[in-house]
Amino acid sequence: MIEKKPHINIFWFKRDLRLQDNENLWQSMQDNIPVILLYIFEPSILVDSHYSNRHFNFIKESLKDINNRLFEHNTKVLVVSGEVIPVFKKIQQHYNINHIYSHIETGIKLTFDRDKAVKKWQQSENIRWIQYINNGVQRGLKNRKNWVQNWEWWMTEPQRIFLPEKGDLITIQDINYIAPFFDIVSLETLNSSLQKGGTTIGLRYFESFLSSRLENYNAHISKPLLSRKSCSRLSPYIAWGNLSVRQIWQKAKHLRKTSKHKRQLDGFTSRLRWQAHFIQKFEMEDSMEFLSVNKGYHTLKKDNNSKLAKAWKEGKTGFPLIDACMRCLVETGYLNFRMRAMVVSFFVHNLWQPWQEASSFLARQFLDFEPGIHYPQLQMQAGETGINMLRIYNPIKTSYEHDPEGVFIKKWVPELKNVPQSYIHEPYIMSMMEQQFCNTEIGRDYPAPIISLKDSQKKASDILWKLQKHPNVTEDAVRILKRHTLIDRKIWD
Ligand SMILES: Cc1cc2nc3c(=O)[nH]c(=O)nc-3n(C[C@H](O)[C@H](O)[C@H](O)COP(=O)(O)OP(=O)(O)OC[C@H]3O[C@@H](n4cnc5c(N)ncnc54)[C@H](O)[C@@H]3O)c2cc1C
Repeated sequence: MIEKKPHINIFWFKRDLRLQDNENLWQSMQDNIPVILLYIFEPSILVDSHYSNRHFNFIKESLKDINNRLFEHNTKVLVVSGEVIPVFKKIQQHYNINHIYSHIETGIKLTFDRDKAVKKWQQSENIRWIQYINNGVQRGLKNRKNWVQNWEWWMTEPQRIFLPEKGDLITIQDINYIAPFFDIVSLETLNSSLQKGGTTIGLRYFESFLSSRLENYNAHISKPLLSRKSCSRLSPYIAWGNLSVRQIWQKAKHLRKTSKHKRQLDGFTSRLRWQAHFIQKFEMEDSMEFLSVNKGYHTLKKDNNSKLAKAWKEGKTGFPLIDACMRCLVETGYLNFRMRAMVVSFFVHNLWQPWQEASSFLARQFLDFEPGIHYPQLQMQAGETGINMLRIYNPIKTSYEHDPEGVFIKKWVPELKNVPQSYIHEPYIMSMMEQQFCNTEIGRDYPAPIISLKDSQKKASDILWKLQKHPNVTEDAVRILKRHTLIDRKIWD
């Protein structure tokens, strides 16, 4: 007699590593057949240049947190290594797969191509793959008509509560039974100084932000040091899906009714809107991973200079705030918005390097790497959209304004610790005698500036302003505005 394989659904975790308010997970449990919760560490992603161990550690921490929460439901996530289709095929050896559930992933080409292959396979196997939208980002749009209303509707919908009943999820015993047939991934992680993954910790960041840290949100948002405390620091928890944007949005809006800090909360929730707005741009124009969104800039050629790029990556450019930011980013995985914009501006304008040369390196450093924000932001800062104001940050001016006493600089560039405050932003203007007084020789203890700020700024500005008026740029800007702009551009762009 042939033994019949039991029927199951698969819930495939992607960048939605949470149980609460997970639309896809909730839907997967409505069919009255047991669900396997699955996470796949794909070798092709492990070696992709956008990702680094800090991301995989964060994912493992998130999965550990999910497993702790699943313990009372007598199940756990099947965490395996392998490419997606072979993993599904292996599951088929033990079960009949009815449906696969996951969210629509707005990812890099690698994951989009993988999804297209999975779609083909799933159709050939007569398995339904059901994908739900993630944080209000929609697939298949041609323009942004009604987009704002749809996003707002999505944010005010009730949250999906995770309340499995007996039989909704496959048991831990069944998972342990099939585990030997898979390449199981250990969830052991390395200790690091980066933000730790998981819904539990994400909620703690959120609580502490709402209860006290938000007080100075607007005042400190551009400060490299103070923003680390006064901003929410929720970006990795949103990027990897430990928290849903809806969960955050609803709580912040509810608090606003009684809060003394309405302006701060408004500043915060407007940024939550940008989250989906930027990802939607990338969803509708995925070639942005490789090319400038405005075709008029495709003729702009910049020569790669590996020496300059290396100095930038290592925080050895001779510009203290740039160097402090780059070293801090490499060590902690985080920089506030203004400093991210400034280090990119320095790379693309002052060092005159193509934004593409910065993209993978920065993606590997940002713990919150989110392709849909990363690429549109890089191109905006590079001044290659044709629809945004060209902005070339002056790192010296920014330094005086946002780290006036050089506390952030001295923390991350200790070789400048003896430099007096009056010179901390521009140590290279010290005379030889002043350098001797503070025992800091420029060129020996700390690099001399690798470029002239004034000349490089002029060159970038001349070329880019001229190009911005070129018909190829202005024509494509019309197309971009039609496709990507919203009714009230002021609030959303
Ligand atoms: C070149 C560049 C690359 C960036 N890459 C990323 C990225 O990969 N992932 C990422 O999450 N953010 C990215 N940002 C946007 C922004 O810098 C971070 O979201 C923010 O600094 C995260 O800190 P926070 O969570 O304390 O933000 P808060 O100010 O507390 O904001 C709350 C949330 O709103 C969203 N948000 C905030 N600012 C923006 C913005 N400008 N655009 C879109 N969403 C925003 C984030 O989800 C953030 O967690 C990038 C910015 C630049 C200039």
